[in-house]
Amino acid sequence: MSSVVISPRGEQRVRGGHPWIYRADVVDVDAAPGDIVQVIGPRRKTIGYALFSDRSQIPIRMLTHGDVPADEALVRTRLEHAITYRESLALDATAYRLVHGEGDLLPSLVVDRYGDHLVVQALSQGMDRLLPSLTRMLVELVRPAGILARNDPKVRTLEGLEQTVDVLHGTIPESVTVREGPVEYDVDLRRGQKTGLFLDQRENRAAAAQYARGSLLDCFSYNGGFALRLAKQCPQAEAIDISVDAVARIRANALRNGVPHVQAREANVFDELRRLEKAGVRYDTIVLDPPAFAKNKASVPNALAGYKEINLRAMRLLNRGGYLITCSCSYNVNEEMFAGMLEEASADSHTPVMVVEKRMQGRDHPVLVGVPETYYLKCFILRRAE
Ligand code: SAH
Repeated sequence: MSSVVISPRGEQRVRGGHPWIYRADVVDVDAAPGDIVQVIGPRRKTIGYALFSDRSQIPIRMLTHGDVPADEALVRTRLEHAITYRESLALDATAYRLVHGEGDLLPSLVVDRYGDHLVVQALSQGMDRLLPSLTRMLVELVRPAGILARNDPKVRTLEGLEQTVDVLHGTIPESVTVREGPVEYDVDLRRGQKTGLFLDQRENRAAAAQYARGSLLDCFSYNGGFALRLAKQCPQAEAIDISVDAVARIRANALRNGVPHVQAREANVFDELRRLEKAGVRYDTIVLDPPAFAKNKASVPNALAGYKEINLRAMRLLNRGGYLITCSCSYNVNEEMFAGMLEEASADSHTPVMVVEKRMQGRDHPVLVGVPETYYLKCFILRRAE
């Protein structure tokens, strides 16, 4: 069997519960790209079994510990567990994440369900090699009408893998209709952002619905996720996105969901918040759900400045008693940094706000304790106190 030898520091990391071993901690390799390897410690003891990549900065992703072998049967059992967990949640939606990589002990694998269709992403050489077996298992376990591989994220290039979009099973229509709570969407699985929708915000949209009222401003709206969910209780509703396609989709979705008063427009949120403040417009409910500003550690200071800018302006635009639903999906900006940024935004804008709820990604995107990378989405619900 293929094997790798790791350093004492690598061994310590694995014992601490983290599944990743970095390149610097790999001492010796006798394996081909994408192999399942035996991981051997500095004292020649078997530490466990793992997926191996020869190109990645993370060459080892642990699957098991000690003498427990990793094979297709193990992967199948983990898939079953992931699916059983989602069933136990009884989610009020037909679109949700079935497998959340490391969070489900299936490192670098994403499987999203959109009604009768599945979208998978294999983000390492090891998972890529397993795709044919994974497809067979998913067909058996879920019986989908089609499986699409959205293997187009850039991280695949770090693994020396191609960026591709392929139908792996059955058929994938141009557009698939899904429901999330009371809202229906048409989703383009081939071309939509991520795997089609921002599934990780489902529970935060529902939480926001407990507070939203009056006039609503949904910033970074994509296809209207928050706006459509909240518009029924907000007589005035505006949605902003920089993408023309997104704005067209918000409009179509608004009609389809019986909330034609949602006004969607194409704009840069940074400019628009400044313009609205100058114009003296005020809102009762504001949502900020920007893309990840910090893609890596080096960009954290700039990202925090960006988050602060939009949060500070949004706080100023709120009427007293108004709600701000503010999010960050940058893993590199952790909860503490996010909270610190909000503190500064509140102080600098002279706007006292209270924390009503601290939330994270939906439960179908589980956070694995000891693996901070699995906790990436922060969502705070704030209320303007005065
Ligand atoms: N809130 C959405 C998801 C937002 S994803 C939901 O619930 O589904 C982030 C969105 O921000 C993308 O649609 C992207 O087009 C948009 N975007 C990125 N930069 C922007 C900017 N400066 N101004 C406005 N929109 C922007």
